[in-house]
Amino acid sequence: MNFELTEEQIAVRDAARDFAQNVLKPGVIARDTEQRFPTEEIKQLGELGFMGIMVDTKYGGSGMDAISYTLAMEELSKVDASTSVCVSVNNSLVCYGLEAFGTEEQKQKFLVPLASGQKIGAFCLSEPEAGSDATSQRTTAIDMGDHYLVNGTKNWITNGNTASTYIVIAQTDVNKGHKGINALIIEKGMEGFVVGAKEDKLGIRGSDTHTLMFTDVKVPKENRLGEDGFGFKFAMKTLAGGRIGIAAQALGIAAGAYELALAYSKERKTFGQEIHKHQVIAFKLADMATQIECSRMLVHKAAAIKDAGENYDLASSMAKLYASETAMRTTVEAVQIHGGYGFVKEYHVERLMRDAKITQGVTTSRAIIGSRILGVHCLTELR
Ligand SMILES: Cc1cc2nc3c(=O)[nH]c(=O)nc-3n(C[C@H](O)[C@H](O)[C@H](O)COP(=O)(O)OP(=O)(O)OC[C@H]3O[C@@H](n4cnc5c(N)ncnc54)[C@H](O)[C@@H]3O)c2cc1C
Repeated sequence: MNFELTEEQIAVRDAARDFAQNVLKPGVIARDTEQRFPTEEIKQLGELGFMGIMVDTKYGGSGMDAISYTLAMEELSKVDASTSVCVSVNNSLVCYGLEAFGTEEQKQKFLVPLASGQKIGAFCLSEPEAGSDATSQRTTAIDMGDHYLVNGTKNWITNGNTASTYIVIAQTDVNKGHKGINALIIEKGMEGFVVGAKEDKLGIRGSDTHTLMFTDVKVPKENRLGEDGFGFKFAMKTLAGGRIGIAAQALGIAAGAYELALAYSKERKTFGQEIHKHQVIAFKLADMATQIECSRMLVHKAAAIKDAGENYDLASSMAKLYASETAMRTTVEAVQIHGGYGFVKEYHVERLMRDAKITQGVTTSRAIIGSRILGVHCLTELR
Protein backbone atom coordinates (compact mmCIF):
# COMPACT_ATOMS: atom_id res chain seq x y z
CA MET A 1 0.00 0.00 0.00
CA ASN A 2 1.45 3.33 -1.09
CA PHE A 3 -0.25 6.58 -0.12
CA GLU A 4 2.24 8.79 -2.01
CA LEU A 5 1.07 10.58 -5.14
CA THR A 6 3.30 10.36 -8.22
CA GLU A 7 4.93 13.49 -9.64
CA GLU A 8 2.46 13.40 -12.52
CA GLN A 9 -0.53 13.20 -10.16
CA ILE A 10 0.82 16.11 -8.10
CA ALA A 11 1.23 18.15 -11.29
CA VAL A 12 -2.39 17.50 -12.30
CA ARG A 13 -3.65 18.40 -8.82
CA ASP A 14 -1.61 21.61 -8.72
CA ALA A 15 -2.73 22.65 -12.22
CA ALA A 16 -6.38 22.10 -11.26
CA ARG A 17 -5.89 23.97 -7.97
CA ASP A 18 -4.26 26.88 -9.76
CA PHE A 19 -7.07 27.04 -12.32
CA ALA A 20 -9.78 26.83 -9.66
CA GLN A 21 -8.31 29.53 -7.45
CA ASN A 22 -7.27 31.95 -10.20
CA VAL A 23 -9.78 31.41 -13.01
CA LEU A 24 -12.92 29.90 -11.48
CA LYS A 25 -13.06 31.73 -8.15
CA PRO A 26 -13.37 35.36 -9.38
CA GLY A 27 -16.68 34.76 -11.23
CA VAL A 28 -18.17 31.90 -9.27
CA ILE A 29 -20.67 33.92 -7.20
CA ALA A 30 -21.98 35.78 -10.26
CA ARG A 31 -22.36 32.57 -12.30
CA ASP A 32 -24.28 30.97 -9.43
CA THR A 33 -26.55 34.01 -8.98
CA GLU A 34 -27.24 34.41 -12.70
CA GLN A 35 -27.34 30.64 -13.40
CA ARG A 36 -24.69 31.23 -16.05
CA PHE A 37 -22.87 28.30 -17.63
CA PRO A 38 -19.05 28.63 -17.44
CA THR A 39 -18.57 28.65 -21.23
CA GLU A 40 -15.16 30.31 -21.36
CA GLU A 41 -13.89 28.39 -18.31
CA ILE A 42 -14.89 25.02 -19.81
CA LYS A 43 -13.16 25.98 -23.07
CA GLN A 44 -9.96 26.67 -21.14
CA LEU A 45 -10.29 23.43 -19.18
CA GLY A 46 -10.56 21.64 -22.52
CA GLU A 47 -7.37 23.28 -23.75
CA LEU A 48 -5.62 22.21 -20.55
CA GLY A 49 -6.71 18.59 -21.07
CA PHE A 50 -9.28 18.36 -18.26
CA MET A 51 -12.24 17.34 -20.43
CA GLY A 52 -10.74 13.97 -21.36
CA ILE A 53 -8.39 13.31 -18.45
CA MET A 54 -8.46 9.50 -18.63
CA VAL A 55 -8.90 9.16 -22.39
CA ASP A 56 -6.01 7.73 -24.40
CA THR A 57 -3.88 10.43 -26.05
CA LYS A 58 -4.57 8.81 -29.44
CA TYR A 59 -8.21 9.91 -29.04
CA GLY A 60 -7.35 13.47 -27.97
CA GLY A 61 -7.33 12.79 -24.22
CA SER A 62 -4.67 13.33 -21.55
CA GLY A 63 -4.00 9.65 -20.90
CA MET A 64 -3.99 10.09 -17.11
CA ASP A 65 -5.17 7.63 -14.47
CA ALA A 66 -8.37 7.74 -12.41
CA ILE A 67 -6.50 9.00 -9.33
CA SER A 68 -5.45 12.09 -11.32
CA TYR A 69 -9.07 12.55 -12.35
CA THR A 70 -10.23 12.55 -8.71
CA LEU A 71 -7.48 14.99 -7.73
CA ALA A 72 -8.60 17.38 -10.47
CA MET A 73 -12.27 16.96 -9.52
CA GLU A 74 -11.50 17.67 -5.85
CA GLU A 75 -9.63 20.89 -6.60
CA LEU A 76 -12.19 22.23 -9.09
CA SER A 77 -15.08 21.35 -6.75
CA LYS A 78 -13.51 23.16 -3.79
CA VAL A 79 -14.31 26.34 -5.67
CA ASP A 80 -16.97 25.66 -8.31
CA ALA A 81 -19.08 22.50 -8.29
CA SER A 82 -21.12 23.77 -11.26
CA THR A 83 -18.05 23.70 -13.46
CA SER A 84 -16.84 20.42 -12.01
CA VAL A 85 -20.15 18.62 -12.69
CA CYS A 86 -19.79 19.49 -16.38
CA VAL A 87 -16.22 18.14 -16.28
CA SER A 88 -17.43 15.03 -14.47
CA VAL A 89 -20.25 14.17 -16.89
CA ASN A 90 -18.01 14.71 -19.91
CA ASN A 91 -15.19 12.58 -18.47
CA SER A 92 -16.90 9.83 -16.49
CA LEU A 93 -20.11 9.26 -18.38
CA VAL A 94 -19.62 10.34 -21.97
CA CYS A 95 -15.89 9.94 -22.79
CA TYR A 96 -15.55 6.79 -20.69
CA GLY A 97 -18.65 5.22 -22.26
CA LEU A 98 -17.42 5.95 -25.78
CA GLU A 99 -13.86 4.80 -25.15
CA ALA A 100 -14.83 1.61 -23.32
CA PHE A 101 -17.72 0.49 -25.56
CA GLY A 102 -17.59 2.49 -28.80
CA THR A 103 -16.42 1.26 -32.18
CA GLU A 104 -13.27 2.74 -33.72
CA GLU A 105 -15.45 4.87 -36.03
CA GLN A 106 -17.52 6.15 -33.09
CA LYS A 107 -14.33 7.01 -31.20
CA GLN A 108 -12.89 8.96 -34.12
CA LYS A 109 -16.12 10.79 -34.84
CA PHE A 110 -17.45 11.48 -31.33
CA LEU A 111 -14.77 10.82 -28.70
CA VAL A 112 -11.94 12.89 -30.20
CA PRO A 113 -13.82 16.24 -30.16
CA LEU A 114 -15.21 15.51 -26.67
CA ALA A 115 -11.92 14.44 -25.09
CA SER A 116 -10.04 17.38 -26.58
CA GLY A 117 -12.66 19.81 -25.26
CA GLN A 118 -13.95 21.03 -28.64
CA LYS A 119 -17.40 19.66 -27.86
CA ILE A 120 -19.34 18.83 -24.69
CA GLY A 121 -21.26 15.63 -24.02
CA ALA A 122 -24.39 14.72 -22.07
CA PHE A 123 -25.64 11.43 -20.62
CA CYS A 124 -29.39 10.95 -20.84
CA LEU A 125 -30.88 8.22 -18.68
CA SER A 126 -33.43 9.90 -16.38
CA GLU A 127 -37.02 10.46 -17.41
CA PRO A 128 -40.07 11.97 -15.69
CA GLU A 129 -41.13 8.42 -14.70
CA ALA A 130 -37.69 6.76 -14.53
CA GLY A 131 -35.24 8.13 -11.97
CA SER A 132 -33.94 5.72 -9.32
CA ASP A 133 -35.84 2.99 -11.18
CA ALA A 134 -33.90 3.40 -14.42
CA THR A 135 -35.32 0.18 -15.87
CA SER A 136 -38.72 1.88 -16.40
CA GLN A 137 -37.58 3.57 -19.60
CA ARG A 138 -40.47 5.11 -21.58
CA THR A 139 -38.28 6.58 -24.32
CA THR A 140 -38.48 4.18 -27.23
CA ALA A 141 -35.97 3.39 -29.98
CA ILE A 142 -37.87 1.33 -32.54
CA ASP A 143 -35.73 -0.75 -34.87
CA MET A 144 -36.48 0.39 -38.43
CA GLY A 145 -33.80 -1.67 -40.18
CA ASP A 146 -31.01 0.79 -40.94
CA HIS A 147 -31.96 3.24 -38.16
CA TYR A 148 -33.83 3.61 -34.87
CA LEU A 149 -36.83 5.89 -34.49
CA VAL A 150 -36.54 7.59 -31.12
CA ASN A 151 -39.50 9.07 -29.21
CA GLY A 152 -39.68 10.24 -25.63
CA THR A 153 -38.57 12.72 -22.99
CA LYS A 154 -35.45 12.85 -20.84
CA ASN A 155 -35.20 15.19 -17.88
CA TRP A 156 -32.61 16.56 -15.50
CA ILE A 157 -29.93 16.37 -18.21
CA THR A 158 -26.65 18.03 -17.19
CA ASN A 159 -25.03 19.96 -20.08
CA GLY A 160 -28.50 19.69 -21.64
CA ASN A 161 -28.20 22.73 -23.87
CA THR A 162 -24.44 23.21 -24.07
CA ALA A 163 -23.74 19.66 -25.24
CA SER A 164 -23.44 18.64 -28.90
CA THR A 165 -23.26 14.88 -28.34
CA TYR A 166 -25.87 13.04 -26.27
CA ILE A 167 -25.78 9.42 -25.17
CA VAL A 168 -29.46 8.50 -24.90
CA ILE A 169 -30.79 5.35 -23.24
CA ALA A 170 -34.00 4.03 -24.80
CA GLN A 171 -36.20 0.94 -24.86
CA THR A 172 -36.17 -1.04 -28.11
CA ASP A 173 -37.89 -4.27 -27.07
CA VAL A 174 -40.23 -3.85 -24.12
CA ASN A 175 -40.74 -7.64 -23.86
CA LYS A 176 -37.09 -8.08 -22.98
CA GLY A 177 -37.25 -5.60 -20.07
CA HIS A 178 -33.85 -4.12 -19.20
CA LYS A 179 -32.24 -6.49 -21.73
CA GLY A 180 -34.19 -4.72 -24.51
CA ILE A 181 -32.63 -1.29 -23.85
CA ASN A 182 -30.11 0.44 -26.15
CA ALA A 183 -27.65 3.33 -25.77
CA LEU A 184 -27.66 5.61 -28.81
CA ILE A 185 -25.53 8.59 -29.77
CA ILE A 186 -27.77 11.49 -30.75
CA GLU A 187 -26.35 14.73 -32.12
CA LYS A 188 -27.71 18.21 -31.58
CA GLY A 189 -29.48 19.34 -34.74
CA MET A 190 -30.97 15.95 -35.60
CA GLU A 191 -34.53 16.50 -36.81
CA GLY A 192 -37.11 16.01 -34.06
CA PHE A 193 -34.66 16.63 -31.19
CA VAL A 194 -35.63 19.66 -29.08
CA VAL A 195 -33.94 21.04 -25.97
CA GLY A 196 -36.62 22.08 -23.47
CA ALA A 197 -36.75 24.29 -20.44
CA LYS A 198 -33.76 24.96 -18.21
CA GLU A 199 -34.24 24.08 -14.54
CA ASP A 200 -34.01 26.85 -11.90
CA LYS A 201 -32.07 24.96 -9.22
CA LEU A 202 -31.13 25.07 -5.52
CA GLY A 203 -27.47 24.29 -6.20
CA ILE A 204 -24.93 23.78 -8.99
CA ARG A 205 -26.79 26.69 -10.55
CA GLY A 206 -24.06 27.45 -13.06
CA SER A 207 -24.58 24.02 -14.59
CA ASP A 208 -26.98 23.62 -17.44
CA THR A 209 -29.85 21.22 -16.60
CA HIS A 210 -32.57 20.68 -19.20
CA THR A 211 -35.45 18.52 -20.32
CA LEU A 212 -34.93 17.01 -23.79
CA MET A 213 -37.67 15.94 -26.19
CA PHE A 214 -37.35 13.42 -29.01
CA THR A 215 -40.05 13.11 -31.67
CA ASP A 216 -39.44 10.59 -34.47
CA VAL A 217 -35.69 11.22 -34.36
CA LYS A 218 -33.95 9.01 -36.92
CA VAL A 219 -30.76 7.65 -35.38
CA PRO A 220 -28.47 5.63 -37.67
CA LYS A 221 -27.74 2.06 -36.54
CA GLU A 222 -24.01 2.87 -36.45
CA ASN A 223 -24.76 5.25 -33.54
CA ARG A 224 -25.68 2.36 -31.21
CA LEU A 225 -23.13 1.64 -28.47
CA GLY A 226 -22.42 -2.07 -28.07
CA GLU A 227 -24.58 -4.99 -29.13
CA ASP A 228 -28.37 -4.80 -29.42
CA GLY A 229 -29.78 -4.81 -25.87
CA PHE A 230 -26.54 -3.65 -24.21
CA GLY A 231 -27.93 -0.23 -23.24
CA PHE A 232 -28.86 -0.87 -19.61
CA LYS A 233 -25.58 -2.63 -18.90
CA PHE A 234 -23.81 0.25 -20.64
CA ALA A 235 -25.59 2.75 -18.37
CA MET A 236 -24.82 0.81 -15.17
CA LYS A 237 -21.16 0.26 -16.03
CA THR A 238 -20.74 3.91 -16.94
CA LEU A 239 -22.52 5.14 -13.82
CA ALA A 240 -20.17 3.05 -11.62
CA GLY A 241 -17.31 5.27 -12.82
CA GLY A 242 -19.58 8.31 -12.58
CA ARG A 243 -19.87 7.63 -8.86
CA ILE A 244 -16.10 8.06 -8.46
CA GLY A 245 -16.36 11.47 -10.14
CA ILE A 246 -19.31 12.61 -8.01
CA ALA A 247 -17.65 11.25 -4.86
CA ALA A 248 -14.58 13.35 -5.73
CA GLN A 249 -16.87 16.33 -6.34
CA ALA A 250 -18.48 15.84 -2.90
CA LEU A 251 -15.01 15.51 -1.34
CA GLY A 252 -13.97 18.80 -2.99
CA ILE A 253 -17.10 20.63 -1.80
CA ALA A 254 -16.43 19.40 1.76
CA ALA A 255 -12.73 20.25 1.63
CA GLY A 256 -13.45 23.70 0.18
CA ALA A 257 -15.93 24.50 2.95
CA TYR A 258 -13.56 23.16 5.62
CA GLU A 259 -10.65 25.28 4.38
CA LEU A 260 -12.82 28.41 4.46
CA ALA A 261 -14.13 27.59 7.95
CA LEU A 262 -10.63 26.88 9.27
CA ALA A 263 -9.29 30.19 7.95
CA TYR A 264 -12.30 32.11 9.29
CA SER A 265 -11.94 30.51 12.72
CA LYS A 266 -8.41 31.92 12.96
CA GLU A 267 -9.55 35.45 12.08
CA ARG A 268 -12.86 35.90 13.84
CA LYS A 269 -12.70 36.78 17.52
CA THR A 270 -15.45 36.42 20.13
CA PHE A 271 -15.08 36.83 23.88
CA GLY A 272 -11.53 38.11 23.38
CA GLN A 273 -10.11 35.20 21.41
CA GLU A 274 -10.14 33.60 17.95
CA ILE A 275 -13.13 31.32 17.71
CA HIS A 276 -11.03 28.20 17.01
CA LYS A 277 -9.81 28.54 20.60
CA HIS A 278 -13.33 27.71 21.79
CA GLN A 279 -13.20 23.96 22.13
CA VAL A 280 -16.59 23.40 20.52
CA ILE A 281 -15.32 25.03 17.29
CA ALA A 282 -12.01 23.14 17.42
CA PHE A 283 -13.90 19.85 17.80
CA LYS A 284 -16.14 20.69 14.86
CA LEU A 285 -13.02 21.32 12.76
CA ALA A 286 -11.48 18.07 13.98
CA ASP A 287 -14.56 16.09 12.93
CA MET A 288 -14.67 17.82 9.55
CA ALA A 289 -10.98 17.15 8.86
CA THR A 290 -11.30 13.48 9.84
CA GLN A 291 -14.40 12.84 7.74
CA ILE A 292 -12.82 14.58 4.76
CA GLU A 293 -9.71 12.42 5.07
CA CYS A 294 -11.89 9.27 5.26
CA SER A 295 -13.73 10.43 2.13
CA ARG A 296 -10.43 11.03 0.33
CA MET A 297 -9.22 7.54 1.23
CA LEU A 298 -12.42 5.97 -0.13
CA VAL A 299 -12.31 8.07 -3.30
CA HIS A 300 -8.65 7.24 -3.97
CA LYS A 301 -9.24 3.58 -3.20
CA ALA A 302 -12.10 3.38 -5.72
CA ALA A 303 -9.94 5.15 -8.33
CA ALA A 304 -6.99 2.86 -7.61
CA ILE A 305 -9.19 -0.21 -8.07
CA LYS A 306 -10.41 1.20 -11.39
CA ASP A 307 -6.82 1.89 -12.44
CA ALA A 308 -5.93 -1.71 -11.56
CA GLY A 309 -8.67 -2.92 -13.94
CA GLU A 310 -10.71 -4.58 -11.20
CA ASN A 311 -14.42 -4.27 -10.33
CA TYR A 312 -15.01 -0.96 -8.57
CA ASP A 313 -18.81 -1.05 -8.14
CA LEU A 314 -18.64 -1.51 -4.36
CA ALA A 315 -15.73 0.88 -3.77
CA SER A 316 -17.25 3.66 -5.89
CA SER A 317 -20.63 3.26 -4.15
CA MET A 318 -19.05 3.46 -0.69
CA ALA A 319 -16.98 6.48 -1.75
CA LYS A 320 -20.05 8.28 -3.07
CA LEU A 321 -22.20 7.45 -0.07
CA TYR A 322 -19.63 8.56 2.50
CA ALA A 323 -18.25 11.58 0.65
CA SER A 324 -21.71 12.99 -0.11
CA GLU A 325 -22.84 12.66 3.53
CA THR A 326 -19.57 14.33 4.55
CA ALA A 327 -20.13 17.15 2.05
CA MET A 328 -23.58 17.88 3.49
CA ARG A 329 -22.48 17.70 7.16
CA THR A 330 -19.30 19.68 6.59
CA THR A 331 -20.88 22.49 4.61
CA VAL A 332 -23.63 22.92 7.21
CA GLU A 333 -20.96 23.19 9.92
CA ALA A 334 -18.92 25.59 7.80
CA VAL A 335 -21.93 27.91 7.50
CA GLN A 336 -22.39 27.64 11.29
CA ILE A 337 -18.75 28.46 12.03
CA HIS A 338 -19.09 31.60 9.90
CA GLY A 339 -22.02 32.76 12.06
CA GLY A 340 -24.19 35.36 10.29
CA TYR A 341 -21.55 35.81 7.59
CA GLY A 342 -22.05 32.22 6.56
CA PHE A 343 -25.51 33.15 5.40
CA VAL A 344 -24.36 35.62 2.76
CA LYS A 345 -23.02 34.83 -0.69
CA GLU A 346 -19.73 36.72 -0.34
CA TYR A 347 -18.33 34.10 2.03
CA HIS A 348 -18.89 31.18 -0.40
CA VAL A 349 -19.95 28.58 2.20
CA GLU A 350 -23.71 29.00 1.66
CA ARG A 351 -23.19 28.13 -2.03
CA LEU A 352 -21.09 25.09 -1.14
CA MET A 353 -23.89 23.96 1.21
CA ARG A 354 -26.49 24.27 -1.58
CA ASP A 355 -24.15 22.52 -4.03
CA ALA A 356 -23.49 19.65 -1.60
CA LYS A 357 -27.16 18.57 -1.71
CA ILE A 358 -27.03 17.24 -5.27
CA THR A 359 -24.27 14.78 -4.40
CA GLN A 360 -26.56 13.08 -1.87
CA GLY A 361 -28.57 11.02 -4.34
CA VAL A 362 -27.32 7.70 -3.04
CA THR A 363 -30.22 5.22 -3.34
CA THR A 364 -28.39 3.18 -5.96
CA SER A 365 -25.09 3.35 -4.07
CA ARG A 366 -26.83 1.99 -0.96
CA ALA A 367 -28.55 -0.72 -3.03
CA ILE A 368 -25.22 -1.86 -4.47
CA ILE A 369 -23.48 -1.84 -1.08
CA GLY A 370 -26.45 -3.67 0.51
CA SER A 371 -26.52 -6.32 -2.19
CA ARG A 372 -22.81 -6.99 -1.75
CA ILE A 373 -22.82 -7.27 2.03
CA LEU A 374 -25.97 -9.42 1.98
CA GLY A 375 -24.74 -11.53 -0.92
CA VAL A 376 -27.86 -10.91 -3.03
CA HIS A 377 -28.32 -9.29 -6.44
CA CYS A 378 -29.89 -5.95 -7.15
CA LEU A 379 -30.75 -4.96 -10.68
CA THR A 380 -28.27 -2.10 -10.75
CA GLU A 381 -25.44 -4.46 -9.87
CA LEU A 382 -24.85 -6.32 -13.08
CA ARG A 383 -25.46 -9.99 -13.43
C1 LIG B 1 -29.20 18.81 -10.98
C2 LIG B 1 -29.45 17.43 -11.50
C3 LIG B 1 -28.66 16.93 -12.53
C4 LIG B 1 -28.92 15.66 -13.06
N1 LIG B 1 -28.18 15.21 -14.12
C5 LIG B 1 -28.56 14.08 -14.74
C6 LIG B 1 -27.94 13.68 -15.98
O1 LIG B 1 -27.02 14.33 -16.49
N2 LIG B 1 -28.40 12.55 -16.59
C7 LIG B 1 -29.41 11.81 -16.08
O2 LIG B 1 -29.78 10.79 -16.70
N3 LIG B 1 -30.01 12.13 -14.91
C8 LIG B 1 -29.61 13.26 -14.24
N4 LIG B 1 -30.23 13.62 -13.05
C9 LIG B 1 -31.33 12.82 -12.55
C10 LIG B 1 -31.01 12.04 -11.29
O3 LIG B 1 -30.16 10.99 -11.60
C11 LIG B 1 -32.36 11.61 -10.72
O4 LIG B 1 -32.96 12.75 -10.17
C12 LIG B 1 -32.21 10.51 -9.71
O5 LIG B 1 -31.91 9.31 -10.36
C13 LIG B 1 -33.47 10.32 -8.86
O6 LIG B 1 -34.58 10.15 -9.66
P1 LIG B 1 -35.95 10.92 -9.36
O7 LIG B 1 -35.61 12.38 -9.30
O8 LIG B 1 -36.96 10.49 -10.36
O9 LIG B 1 -36.36 10.46 -7.92
P2 LIG B 1 -37.24 9.10 -7.54
O10 LIG B 1 -36.62 7.90 -8.20
O11 LIG B 1 -38.66 9.38 -7.81
O12 LIG B 1 -36.97 9.06 -6.00
C14 LIG B 1 -37.72 9.87 -5.04
C15 LIG B 1 -37.23 9.51 -3.66
O13 LIG B 1 -37.51 8.14 -3.37
C16 LIG B 1 -36.30 7.46 -3.01
N5 LIG B 1 -36.36 6.09 -3.52
C17 LIG B 1 -36.54 5.69 -4.80
N6 LIG B 1 -36.56 4.38 -4.89
C18 LIG B 1 -36.38 3.90 -3.64
C19 LIG B 1 -36.30 2.59 -3.08
N7 LIG B 1 -36.36 1.49 -3.81
N8 LIG B 1 -36.14 2.48 -1.74
C20 LIG B 1 -36.06 3.59 -0.98
N9 LIG B 1 -36.11 4.84 -1.44
C21 LIG B 1 -36.26 5.00 -2.76
C22 LIG B 1 -35.18 8.27 -3.64
O14 LIG B 1 -33.95 8.11 -2.93
C23 LIG B 1 -35.72 9.68 -3.48
O15 LIG B 1 -35.44 10.15 -2.20
C24 LIG B 1 -29.95 14.87 -12.50
C25 LIG B 1 -30.72 15.36 -11.44
C26 LIG B 1 -30.50 16.64 -10.96
C27 LIG B 1 -31.39 17.15 -9.85
